[in-house]
Amino acid sequence: MLTDALLRRARAFAAERHGLLIGKDWQPAASGRRFDVEDPATGAVFASAARAERADVDRAVTAARGALETGAWAEMKPAERSRLLWRLAALLERDADLISLIETLDIGKPFAQMRGLDTAFAIELFEYNAGWPTRLAGDSLPLSNPGDWHAYTVREPIGVVGLIVPWNAPLMMAAAKLAPALAAGCTVVLKPAEQSPLSALYLGRLVQEAGFPPGAVNILTGFGAEAGAAMAEHIGIDKISFTGSAATGRRITLAALGNFKRVTLELGGKTPVMIFPDADLDKAASAAARSIFANTGQVCNAGARLYVHRTVFDRVVEAVAARAQSLRVGSGLDPETDMGPVISAAQLDRVTGYVATGRNEGAEVLTGGARLDRPGHFIAPTVLTGTSLDMRVAREEIFGPVLCAMPFGDDDLSRIAAEANGTQYGLGAQIWTRDLGIAHRLAARLKAGTVRVNGSGLDPALPFGGFKASGWGREYGREGVEAYTELKSVAMALPEV
Ligand code: ADP
Ligand code: MG
Repeated sequence: MLTDALLRRARAFAAERHGLLIGKDWQPAASGRRFDVEDPATGAVFASAARAERADVDRAVTAARGALETGAWAEMKPAERSRLLWRLAALLERDADLISLIETLDIGKPFAQMRGLDTAFAIELFEYNAGWPTRLAGDSLPLSNPGDWHAYTVREPIGVVGLIVPWNAPLMMAAAKLAPALAAGCTVVLKPAEQSPLSALYLGRLVQEAGFPPGAVNILTGFGAEAGAAMAEHIGIDKISFTGSAATGRRITLAALGNFKRVTLELGGKTPVMIFPDADLDKAASAAARSIFANTGQVCNAGARLYVHRTVFDRVVEAVAARAQSLRVGSGLDPETDMGPVISAAQLDRVTGYVATGRNEGAEVLTGGARLDRPGHFIAPTVLTGTSLDMRVAREEIFGPVLCAMPFGDDDLSRIAAEANGTQYGLGAQIWTRDLGIAHRLAARLKAGTVRVNGSGLDPALPFGGFKASGWGREYGREGVEAYTELKSVAMALPEV
């Protein structure tokens, strides 16, 4: 619950002189430099963090390499790694209110949503992945070479991994990478985004309290162009797992080529939500609104394109617009708030810029479209109609609460799929229908990493990731944890007896 006492604790944490977690200790950046942390609901600076650069990345990689190769982590049995992950999940549960509020201050997300969605999901991610250490295994394989062979595969930790996360869901994204990386036995250097460093710092304390050996988890706060770029090109890092923009993903991939790092990329999306006339239309409309307005649209898998069959288009789009108008936009600290600010002034400019572009291209603003006349980075939930895929606003990722609603006029599933597949992205898709034939036939035609029928959401057991320019690889599920392993084949010729 959000109380004054909790708010005092969150502010007190924010006001501390935070360092970098390198090996056993929290330390200042080698340069001694720091950067300001802003509250997007007011635009005010309320905290600062150490500004890691190349020298700090070097130190963190050395600590991670040391922990990987010698000492308690290197020697640890899988069941003990499980126990540590369970302990971390329990500590996160214990401090869930506090860490949620710290993140609300940092990114503006309404506290109840932070606690009920992001933090709850972060806990689930640690719990789910806590089951993997004892279950990661290879196969035993029958070979056809001449001779008698005993052949098997094993999964080994990939090594030192760099985890680079964005600002839209900092705690959840950190957990989504940290949990499987540790489950697989890797050691990590985690870098939160410069816009949102605080929850990772708190998580670092819980990692220490849980009893992870020093060096298993290192946390560097700093800028993408400095600490992030140094991680991407560091030859002591074996893999980067990145979530963020396509442009940054491309930069990281190029930098990673130096030592052929493994790279997992979770990039953008322009997820289509397709509503057929037989669907539960009220439910579909409110889910469509939630899908684009949750977290102020700053979600890679936000349902940014709404396709509705023309026979029910007006009804559904009016219901979505009514929802948009009823959302209370404000500070994440206000329990009445449904939708918080966007992360920064730059992001607000980007979102309003897209709305302006849409208008110039011929879109109609059915509702919203303007920034709110108050301090902080607020914009009204926005619904555009009259859009089509030849407009940038319907094709490019906006990462804000802007929905493009478009009718589809026929029942040809291939044509609908071609429209849904008509962007460079392929992260997610939603279908709303009661017709099993439509659901499965359309799902088969969609170029999307995740297709949801009559619902949305995430699950730690369900692989998540993108086709096409939405990324490389998958997170969550077996594939997500195996992505932190290398597969080794061992074949032994049995001696004659
Ligand atoms: P945005 O453009 O909205 O800030 P990014 O995708 O650039 O989103 O940021 C996501 C994460 O990537 C952040 O942690 C950021 O610091 C990091 N980052 C940004 N640029 C680079 C880079 N060149 N190399 C490595 N990491 C980077
Ligand atoms: Mg912030």
